[in-house]
Amino acid sequence: MYKVPVWLPIKSLGAVNVYAFSSDDGSLDLVDSGILSGRSITSFVTVLKRGGLDPCKIRNIYITHFHVDHSTMSLFLHRLSNARLFIGAGDYRVIEKGVESFVRGAVRLFIEHGMSREEAETIFKNHPAVRLADTYRELIDVEWNLLREDDEITLGKEKYRVIELPGHTPGHIGLLSSDGSKLFSGDVVLERITPHVTIHDWRDNPLKDYLDTLYRIKNLGVKVIHPGHREDITDPVRRINELLEHHKTRLGEILEVLRKEGRLTGYEIAKRIKWRVRYSGWNEYPYAERFFAMGEALAHLRYLEVEGLVTRKTCGASYCFASI
Ligand SMILES: [Zn+2]
Repeated sequence: MYKVPVWLPIKSLGAVNVYAFSSDDGSLDLVDSGILSGRSITSFVTVLKRGGLDPCKIRNIYITHFHVDHSTMSLFLHRLSNARLFIGAGDYRVIEKGVESFVRGAVRLFIEHGMSREEAETIFKNHPAVRLADTYRELIDVEWNLLREDDEITLGKEKYRVIELPGHTPGHIGLLSSDGSKLFSGDVVLERITPHVTIHDWRDNPLKDYLDTLYRIKNLGVKVIHPGHREDITDPVRRINELLEHHKTRLGEILEVLRKEGRLTGYEIAKRIKWRVRYSGWNEYPYAERFFAMGEALAHLRYLEVEGLVTRKTCGASYCFASI
């Protein structure tokens, strides 16, 4: 297996890990692709060729989730090598319905929960998936193979099983080795980065999905996780416990804010959370960070509402929350 960190125009992430597996006939299977950009393609092809691998011989590309940094370069690679494309059935539905309308759902919730229409529209226009909307539209025309729980696949000479890991995206998948020791987990568990969980439809509860996914992986007993960014995770249980603790702390922080201040909109809560960022105030946040902060705050509030710990009521033009 070759791990190829492919350049990304997202500074905090630096690179996305693409994993390449070769077979005796020189054909290649990939887990994930990078973002569709000239620099990403050049760096990826250069590294493959340096390792004696032929990018024209890519046979299958297994995409863990639909986000731009994992899926969009697959369009170029498919055109180059005729590779077959695979993705979880849930994330294919997002691409099929239009990634723009998926992001639109989140932005609509931002407005309903207290953000001004003007700020929300600017966030929408600057969202990376909206900027690459044409690429996603072209991806709909490609023939996709949909993956579901327990499907068996082959990476190089090794057998893997598909497991569904929703939360970070609705149809996120992982690939588990047949002996149960290795997991390709996309962005579900990352070292030193807290994977983003946001909400696009108030009927969903993505944080609950994500926490269930973390418990599921914890119980698998895998020895190593090959993630979508940064280094391998050689003690999965330790990292999963850290992530579980992080969300528990954030849920507690939100309840504390509501107990102290009474009724607040989601927007007011998002501004009060102590995000780990280097900006001193909300107005300094780049639009991508505002998307993450608002989406994350609402995902936690939805979780608390379903758990019966907060109520959501209309306050004038928007919804606001109160602790019970
Ligand atoms: Zn990613």
